Amino acid sequence: MNKKIELLAPAGDLERAKVAIRFGANAVYLGGKRFSLRSRASNFEISDIKEACDYAREYGAHIHVTINIIPHDEDFDGLEGYLKELENAGVTAVIVASPTIIQTVKKVAPKLEVHLSTQMSTTNLKAIEYYQRLGVDRIVYARECNLEEVCMISKNSPVPTEAFIHGGMCVNYSGRCTLSNAMTLRDANRGGCAQSCRWKYHLIQGEKEISKEDCLFSMSSKDLMAVDVLYDLMDANVASLKIEGRMKSAYYIASVVHTYRKAIDEIAQTEKPLDAERLEYYANELSKAENRPTSIGFYRGLPTAKAHLYGINGAGVTHDFVGVVMAYDQDSQIAKVQVRNVFGCGYELEVFGPHIDNEAFVVDSIINSDKENIEVANQPMTIVEVKIPFIVEPQDLIRRK
Ligand code: SF4
Repeated sequence: MNKKIELLAPAGDLERAKVAIRFGANAVYLGGKRFSLRSRASNFEISDIKEACDYAREYGAHIHVTINIIPHDEDFDGLEGYLKELENAGVTAVIVASPTIIQTVKKVAPKLEVHLSTQMSTTNLKAIEYYQRLGVDRIVYARECNLEEVCMISKNSPVPTEAFIHGGMCVNYSGRCTLSNAMTLRDANRGGCAQSCRWKYHLIQGEKEISKEDCLFSMSSKDLMAVDVLYDLMDANVASLKIEGRMKSAYYIASVVHTYRKAIDEIAQTEKPLDAERLEYYANELSKAENRPTSIGFYRGLPTAKAHLYGINGAGVTHDFVGVVMAYDQDSQIAKVQVRNVFGCGYELEVFGPHIDNEAFVVDSIINSDKENIEVANQPMTIVEVKIPFIVEPQDLIRRK
């Protein structure tokens, strides 16, 4: 069993990279402003990537950078210089989806590990052996592999393997979708996916519309949640467990990373699969993040209609993120809290952080920055004082049911 399995989290900016590491990720993947899917949303300049690497090093963690576009000839300008900058910044690995980029990394930045992106749809051992000959150091499975395949291949693979455990799924075969290109002229394989699959569509059969105005059709998949198969993945010596979601919030990253960190550590300690009660506990913890409804993806075989979202989006979330602890005075038990969402006196809130596990308290008073007692904190990003009857730390997060 791989008790030291890597928990790999996404980050859309420096703050989220630090949150992921603080909450227990062993590695974080992020994208720069070029060469990456999601590049339109990236906030990472090379200086930010360097700061992320320095921060990760303090925690014994690693930074991976996505260079996973499907490149056309004009896309190579500046690539070699960028790879050298990443190597010098202390990046551990680049995630790539092109044989040309694999060869370029090996030539100009040989200290970087090359991880083969899920965009390459790797589903079999022969493909891994082929990519190993090209110099690939790790492969990320296609999300369309089932559990039996992932376990068999991981036990026999000549290079370490990485499997998705949580987050959004494509309704088309990962990396082989041009829906966004067709609908918006934004190339999904060059960083521009507009998530057109999640739009609402009129269904026309022949001449007749069969959708109803109040129930249009969406091609959206449910999100993946693979806590049920964590033990199997660890037992099969998978090297890394990956969470999807570079566009997700810091709260989402913290909640999901925190939960999988605990689940992995529990399995490593007991060396046993999670029982039904623990599985329910972790599924409940994950539902506190801003997920869409979830399914097991392809791990138990081809998804059925139950793994599809026919209209709803974002349903099933049980908690709202309401604040961040900025400071705490142990004598007075007063915490300074940055408000992120409405809460008031009498509300039961829950605090969680790297060293605190879902401690609840009832708000008995709130003092604003003018030292006035207020009943409701409803001004986002302002700082209020709240009594919390147990020790909390700066950057712990607060949520409410
Ligand atoms: S449109 Fe949907 S299925 Fe296609 S790449 Fe984007 S998210 Fe994936």
